[in-house]
Amino acid sequence: MTPGDGSGVWAVLVAAGRGERLGDDRPKAFANLAGRPLLAASLERLEASEWIEAFVIVAPEEWEEPSILLAEEIGAGKAHAAVTGGATRADSVRAGLAEVPEEAAVVVVHDAARPLLGGDVLERVIAGVGDGWDGVVPALPLADTVKRADGEAIVETVDREGLYAVQTPQAFLADALRSAFAGEAGATDCAGLVEAAGGRVRLVEGDRRLLKVTTPDDLQLVEALLRAEA
Ligand code: C5P
Repeated sequence: MTPGDGSGVWAVLVAAGRGERLGDDRPKAFANLAGRPLLAASLERLEASEWIEAFVIVAPEEWEEPSILLAEEIGAGKAHAAVTGGATRADSVRAGLAEVPEEAAVVVVHDAARPLLGGDVLERVIAGVGDGWDGVVPALPLADTVKRADGEAIVETVDREGLYAVQTPQAFLADALRSAFAGEAGATDCAGLVEAAGGRVRLVEGDRRLLKVTTPDDLQLVEALLRAEA
């Protein structure tokens, strides 16, 4: 697959999480990151990618309109619609997917909570779809030692050989993603559902900058990285 070859790559930007651990009165996607809503960085980066034809924003209830206004404000003309998210991430992906046209061949799903979306990683996941792969996800080998615990008590030291932390953006053949999401099932990432449906999902190199904002500390860290980029 090559950029702009007419094969139709759409993205679903999931931004409907409440982000309670940020302790903000706004949802996480609208938390302040370097003077703008967190969502702005992902919108801008999806817009700038020559691989992405259009995208759907999945917003928290009552934040659909502000999401589209934000997209307009930053000139993100590829923003096709903002739809209301669901109770779980999987429900939100399902809601976004319903807005993706039948003609789309590939769908990329990205967490708005990972604002430092790089063009390189987007290219790696999209270019890797097909050739027998239903999905491609960015992953980093685990650097820390991994323990299994029961409460505070360690019960096992897990061999970290072959263990990876998986990020977004994740790219899939649209048909494989649609059939994986056809039921009610949930998973913490899309690849989990595609794997469960028997799909073949491949790992490519992730990006350390794709940190997921969960706590106020994460927000500060991402802000520092963003300023260093400028
Ligand atoms: O909650 P967590 O950080 O795992 O969420 C990952 C991404 O999924 C975030 O961008 C969040 O906005 C999105 N999400 C969603 N709908 C939910 C839960 C999470 O769109 N119900």
